[in-house]
Amino acid sequence: MFLKSVVDLKQLPYDHKPHVAIVGRSNVGKSSLINGLSGQKGLARVSSEPGRTRTLNIYQIEKPYYLIDLPGYGYAKTSKAKQNAFADLIMTYLRECKDLTFAFVVIDARQGVTELDETMIRLLTSEEIPFSIIANKIDKLSRSEAATLMRSLAATYSHIASYPHSARTTTHRGEIKEAIRAAIKQYASA
Ligand code: GDP
Repeated sequence: MFLKSVVDLKQLPYDHKPHVAIVGRSNVGKSSLINGLSGQKGLARVSSEPGRTRTLNIYQIEKPYYLIDLPGYGYAKTSKAKQNAFADLIMTYLRECKDLTFAFVVIDARQGVTELDETMIRLLTSEEIPFSIIANKIDKLSRSEAATLMRSLAATYSHIASYPHSARTTTHRGEIKEAIRAAIKQYASA
């Protein structure tokens, strides 16, 4: 279920439910991932036009937690001022939301970890927010290219789980859901 879109952190639901955030560059496939996790095709709009999601979008696909879709970063056609405004919203949320329990950094498997993704990974690390990496659009790589990417992610981010994923084939969706369940358990026992 889609709950609401907000531009102000005060409008977020704070009712002692863990938040799981989805972050990633614009057009990386965050909406498709949310649709996949929810099993509802049209839940998050899959944009043909990148860079349109400019709000924090809140979903509740299962009762025990909120799924928070953060604005996609790094869309080149967006003005610098607007990019900074989105970046501010993302940073403030990541720094200040006490209920944020876990994040997924969605990357494009064809591009690997870009500079902006690295900035995000550094921020999550310094804020001590547990996260995993989802290499989306893995269907665009050959089997051996996919294996090379996953090996390189495991080598570079040795303490971070990385999942290959494709919105087209549902690859590893079960493991991603399992990671969410584990994060929620952690929140409940904290
Ligand atoms: P968002 O901007 O991060 O929310 O990205 P969207 O979910 O709107 O997806 C952007 C574009 O990438 C759309 O054309 C999707 O159909 C496409 N896309 C998303 N996930 C995948 C995937 O796993 N494989 C492929 N081949 N295309 C994808």
